Amino acid sequence: MNETQRAFLRQSIRVIADYPKPGIQFRDITTLLRDPAAFKLTIDLLCDAWRGLAIGKVAGIEARGFILGGAVAHALGAGFVPIRKRGKLPHETVRVAYSLEYGIDEIEMHKDAVVADEKVLLIDDLIATGGTATAAAQLLKSAGAALVAASFVVDLPGLGGAAKLRGAGIEVHSLLEF
Ligand code: AMP
Repeated sequence: MNETQRAFLRQSIRVIADYPKPGIQFRDITTLLRDPAAFKLTIDLLCDAWRGLAIGKVAGIEARGFILGGAVAHALGAGFVPIRKRGKLPHETVRVAYSLEYGIDEIEMHKDAVVADEKVLLIDDLIATGGTATAAAQLLKSAGAALVAASFVVDLPGLGGAAKLRGAGIEVHSLLEF
């Protein structure tokens, strides 16, 4: 990605102060998604490292990871796997609990979503503390997937999520840091 592209993507993401609670700077990617050039560039860049690598599935984390992951899966000629909040998937699932700032949350994936040793790329819009992505990686590995990497539009390096994933042996890519 060149500097012009980086600057273009940075300015296409809106910042909402104090959402959803005081002190949080929410990075709102809906402004990027609604801009055809920004959306296309984002999907192209998210795909770049993986073309020709025979990625079998792209796994997207609810909900913004569905929008990005679906487009990336299509572009790579891969299948798409939804990773969802507990109770949303109709068939037999694998489930992982992870800590939030207050309390715990649980995410699930269909047990038969991937086949053993299949190359899977994990996608979400943003990595902050890494709790969500770490749990998603656990789900994929427990289902036998070969997790190739986790890719994000935005990394908030100050919150340590990317470092945490890398510490767990997972390759991490992001387009922008804030
Ligand atoms: P975490 O598990 O802390 O890495 O949080 C990542 C998840 O929460 C992603 O699905 C993001 O969409 C969302 N998220 C966390 N912090 C922010 C933020 N500052 N702006 C936008 N989304 C965020």
